[in-house]
Amino acid sequence: MESYDVVVVGGGPAGLQFAREMGRRTDAAVAVLEANDALADNDKSTGGTFDQVIEGFDVPESVVMDASPDVIFEGPTASATLAIPNYVLDFPAFLEFLGRDAERHGVDVRTGVRVTDPLVEDGTVVGVRCRDGRVAETIRADLVVDASGPAGVLTDQLGMWDRDAAQRGIGLEFETTGRFDEDAMVFKFDHEAAPGGYAWTFPAGDGVFKVGVCWIDDFYERHRPPDDGTIHEYVQTWADSDPRWEIDEVRAVHAGEVRSDNSLNHRAGDGVLAVGDAVSSINPLFGEGIRPAMESARMAADAAADALAAGDTSRERLAAYERRWNRERGPNWKRQRVVGELLYDFDAGQQDRFVERAGRLSPAQLDRLQRYDLSLSDLLELYPFAPADLRKAPKLLRHIR
Ligand SMILES: Cc1cc2nc3c(=O)[nH]c(=O)nc-3n(C[C@H](O)[C@H](O)[C@H](O)COP(=O)(O)OP(=O)(O)OC[C@H]3O[C@@H](n4cnc5c(N)ncnc54)[C@H](O)[C@@H]3O)c2cc1C
Repeated sequence: MESYDVVVVGGGPAGLQFAREMGRRTDAAVAVLEANDALADNDKSTGGTFDQVIEGFDVPESVVMDASPDVIFEGPTASATLAIPNYVLDFPAFLEFLGRDAERHGVDVRTGVRVTDPLVEDGTVVGVRCRDGRVAETIRADLVVDASGPAGVLTDQLGMWDRDAAQRGIGLEFETTGRFDEDAMVFKFDHEAAPGGYAWTFPAGDGVFKVGVCWIDDFYERHRPPDDGTIHEYVQTWADSDPRWEIDEVRAVHAGEVRSDNSLNHRAGDGVLAVGDAVSSINPLFGEGIRPAMESARMAADAAADALAAGDTSRERLAAYERRWNRERGPNWKRQRVVGELLYDFDAGQQDRFVERAGRLSPAQLDRLQRYDLSLSDLLELYPFAPADLRKAPKLLRHIR
């Protein structure tokens, strides 16, 4: 039976960054097991991100498709330009870079290996069961890390995260060639373009841009018209609707689901850790998941390196990561979840007023918005109150508790 010190399940941003950290910082034998035949096959994400990822995780320019100085928020009729510098990654190339860098530090990155179950002995996770093609395998490890994204293959079975209780959202985008006149990421909050979500258009290099639509199922059901089309048709309508861009060719279609909650889940158990979307690290307000995936991986690696050095991978030791996440991210993510509950349920007038108010935020407030660190008074400044919102109070209070 094969064995490693650490087995990481899933080769997305979270799993690969975790492996990269372990490879750099320890001499542990680390394997990443990825179900897809190639890391680049995880091609769901638009790759919109910010400085903290590019600078903070040494991401090279070669995997950045474009950078722009602003974000444009739009409602049904209002528009505001926010000075928030941003980047768009070539997501498959980004994953390949992370994988290569992990391998350079001695990590064994194995693709085409699907993990099916945790291997548990006396309540401690001691490895995984998996399939490499048709061959069933058992791999033992002192530490197993679930980084399998919204599938949560281990966190679900181990009862660490209730993925079915989390909010489900879906997104679909076209990566296109053609003309795009804005030097900014465009987000549109308008139920006609994206019921219960938002539509976006991001610059992605010379003559290339990405147009997409996403929504949260609960709010989509409340705001969709009765004679609704598919999400694909919504993206097509959004792509055709605006004179600021014109498509020559759709060169790829990316799609996927997200599952998000307030992120206060079990991130550590005996012999096991969970990072990224396998335990809902994604930001519940705008669905930005790459940055929190990488940050959760780094935090988890701090606890893992310490645990391996001490020869103790018990929950007691590993829970330092869970406590740190809950302290540093938990309260913010909880607040963002409440704001999301309001934002995706706004009527058209509120969407416009929200956008206008966002346009009046000071540079310091924009910095806090970008870091998901808005204070209560910032949020009250942004909030376009409507009396109908009062009926939402009981549900919102449940999220705050
Ligand atoms: C349409 C769409 C657009 C998005 N756009 C953005 C954006 O612009 N910016 C942003 O920051 N975020 C965006 N996100 C969210 C972001 O992509 C995710 O939050 C991020 O990829 C999470 O990283 P992760 O490593 O936790 O999980 P994932 O990226 O989901 O990676 C998990 C990996 O685990 C593998 N896996 C799953 N099950 C198994 C198994 N049983 N065995 C082995 N391997 C397994 C999967 O194949 C996958 O490679 C978007 C998401 C979607 C769906």
